[in-house]
Amino acid sequence: MNCPKCNATLKKVEVNVHGAKNKAISYQCTKCDYFEFEPVSSRKVVEELRESPLKIRQKVVKLSQDRLGIYFNNNVVRSLDLKKGEYIYVSVPDKKHIVIELEE
Ligand SMILES: [Zn+2]
Repeated sequence: MNCPKCNATLKKVEVNVHGAKNKAISYQCTKCDYFEFEPVSSRKVVEELRESPLKIRQKVVKLSQDRLGIYFNNNVVRSLDLKKGEYIYVSVPDKKHIVIELEE
């Protein structure tokens, strides 16, 4: 498989998604920043995560300029032991999901 942007070789990478036993398979370009998820494996991960007990409806809020954000409420902060200044990874496996993974 080659990169649709620069035609370099795509590298197959298994992505561990927090809370899911299935791994999402992604293809990452070895030259540019192109990145895609393989749809079947990411669907499995999303289905697995959908059964997760913590599901909270939240509003997207406007931040400065054109940026949008969400708040993490106390339940989420406590169950993940989140702290200010920590880094997280955000991935978008399909057009209806945002997966947030904590940096180890
Ligand atoms: Zn590329």
